[in-house]
Amino acid sequence: DASVHLFVRVARLGTRFVLLVAEDRTESYRLDAVRRDFVANISHELKTPIGAVSLLAEALAAASDEPEQVKRFAKRLSKESERLARITREIIELSRLQAADALARPEIVDVDHVVASAIDQNRVIADKHGIRLASGGDAGTRAYGDEDLLIAAVQNLVSNAIQYSPDNSRIGVGVVSGDGVLEISVTDQGIGIEEQDLDRVFERFYRIDPARARNTGGTGLGLSIVKHVAQNHGGDVRVWSQPGKGSTFTIRIPELTDADARLADHDPAP
Ligand code: ADP
Repeated sequence: DASVHLFVRVARLGTRFVLLVAEDRTESYRLDAVRRDFVANISHELKTPIGAVSLLAEALAAASDEPEQVKRFAKRLSKESERLARITREIIELSRLQAADALARPEIVDVDHVVASAIDQNRVIADKHGIRLASGGDAGTRAYGDEDLLIAAVQNLVSNAIQYSPDNSRIGVGVVSGDGVLEISVTDQGIGIEEQDLDRVFERFYRIDPARARNTGGTGLGLSIVKHVAQNHGGDVRVWSQPGKGSTFTIRIPELTDADARLADHDPAP
């Protein structure tokens, strides 16, 4: 949208002059539109599971004297409500990240711990599919930021890698640092992403084809959350992929040097 929104105020100065004050409100119009889109998307995404929950509850009530059916409906009900909880959680998380220009309470973060936690959280599901999770690269690096958010971001990338990889494949999480830049990469041997989708996967609610995933319960919010976490740390996230071969997602954020760390220790951010 290339239009410009001007807000114009007119004031009369005596009988001969008119004062015009024009204010450029383009940015605030754009933000309003983004917000409206987000709300429309949210309502759309919530409608399906909410509808399913209420239908299943009705079905459950109607099937009350058939134990097998009750079991089946109850199971589906619990799955739908889990999905509802997940979407809600991710929406809240994303709104928080979007609202914040900066991190509230940055701290020195041990990157090895971030990677180990992200891997641990995915261990059970990876084992279930015979997928090997390996980590490597530079040890002992540090970042300045929010440990929980960084764990959530890497966790998301590892969880996606599992979602879109075949059984018995390998996923690597690598850390590389140098020149003040820290890179955390997650590489899989999965189905990959077509060129035309590469830019779009970071958009809110964008999903390529839910049927591609192992578990179709995704929300399309994961990578958008990863992007905002990286941005709030002063960095970004990139993707390389070859359809049929695999993908690598890389979070790049500033590295914390020894000199920075001394400063951060003595002079906590306001
Ligand atoms: P979802 O909840 O659908 O996983 P994401 O925002 O995490 O949402 O990802 C958006 C889309 O990007 C996914 O629907 C999937 O098609 C694609 N994608 C993400 N990670 C990978 C990956 N490692 N390999 C292949 N496709 C991926």
